[in-house]
Amino acid sequence: MTVERILPTEEAYELLGLTREIAEGELAPRAARYEQEGEFPRDVLRTIGRAGLLGLPYPEADGGAGQPYEVYLQVLETLASSWLAIAEAVSVHTLACFPVAAYGTERQRKSLPDMLGGELLGAYCLSEPQGGSDAAALTTRAVRDGDGYVVTGTKAWITHGGQADFYNVFCRTGGPGAAGISCLLADADTPGLLPQAPERTMGLRASPPAQIVLDDARIPADRLVGEEGQGFRIALEALDTGRLGIAACAVGLAQAALDHACAYAKERTQFGKPIAAFQGVGFMLADMATQIAAARALTLAAGRLKDAGRPFSTEAAKAKLFATDVAMKVTTDAVQVLGGAGYVSDHPVERWFREAKVLQIVEGTNQIQRLVISRALTRD
Ligand SMILES: Cc1cc2nc3c(=O)[nH]c(=O)nc-3n(C[C@H](O)[C@H](O)[C@H](O)COP(=O)(O)OP(=O)(O)OC[C@H]3O[C@@H](n4cnc5c(N)ncnc54)[C@H](O)[C@@H]3O)c2cc1C
Repeated sequence: MTVERILPTEEAYELLGLTREIAEGELAPRAARYEQEGEFPRDVLRTIGRAGLLGLPYPEADGGAGQPYEVYLQVLETLASSWLAIAEAVSVHTLACFPVAAYGTERQRKSLPDMLGGELLGAYCLSEPQGGSDAAALTTRAVRDGDGYVVTGTKAWITHGGQADFYNVFCRTGGPGAAGISCLLADADTPGLLPQAPERTMGLRASPPAQIVLDDARIPADRLVGEEGQGFRIALEALDTGRLGIAACAVGLAQAALDHACAYAKERTQFGKPIAAFQGVGFMLADMATQIAAARALTLAAGRLKDAGRPFSTEAAKAKLFATDVAMKVTTDAVQVLGGAGYVSDHPVERWFREAKVLQIVEGTNQIQRLVISRALTRD
């Protein structure tokens, strides 16, 4: 189904056109096989990078495309409606570029053109086995030793773990709590940085997360991003933008499920009629479409606040919460519209249903989004 979009520039319409071509021509035909075989699509990400889609919201002077968030989010949505793992990879990579782009030293920023051009793939290492929601309690420790830090600990659930070229490692250089956390930028070949076997996940099997063990990993002191103690702030600022990306991914996934369910409902007949003619099915499709439209509007409204330089953190949390809950509901209903056919892998709705679940968990579970929103409401 064509989504009517209002974009700010002619260039943005062309960019969305190019994205649609890539999504339909390169992503859609590959998604099922890569997901079935659990193969990481590094080659596809290179294509995406060369098309300029891996650094969209960053300034052109840094090697990005200088696009506003409202455009970047609609690109993500378009990618997600063909293959969620690629859209999620673009979103996580964009998040992983944030610390250097916003807080990096001149020397660190020299890597930005390769990061934003897609030659270097990024990972963001905040969660640990003993805690993801209470990230300020992280225990990975970095101890200064001469011209470097010696880092010990385990990071958990790291998207692009074992595939990334650079890792943002959030670790404790000081005392307990948020104030003791710093951000170090580690290259993949850092001695002692040891990616573990990929997790066996419910969905997103082409891009499973992995633990990263840091066993006396030595990271040069000049790879400290920002100042010591600034790491938690950097992590949360990155997550604010990342949550917008996850919301856009959710909208795209839900749209794909609705489109598939509509096409099926028009074809499939029961009791001598297309099932779409039964009000019980038609109303389900109507509710799905309405929820998606609302999720898209909320996500773009939050993105436009960011573009305008206004506070957007709470709105990003609302968008992530609502859009990912919508994706779960819509993909569940899409399975229902297909009946038995929805429960087998001959149709992609089965995979989309499994993939939607993770969006309610990553970048702060939806309970944590509610915490963020309720705290903003009740703050004095
Ligand atoms: C596929 C995948 C990819 C991921 N990629 C990354 C990545 O690239 N980088 C990274 O750092 N992390 C990543 N994560 C980790 C993700 O961010 C965490 O899983 C998430 O933050 C939840 O943390 P947890 O799993 O430790 O659950 P827990 O924090 O143990 O939470 C368990 C349950 O308790 C609830 N809960 C916890 N605290 C509260 C509270 N105060 N109020 C109400 N409910 C609460 C949670 O909502 C959840 O339902 C990824 C996870 C997955 C599954």
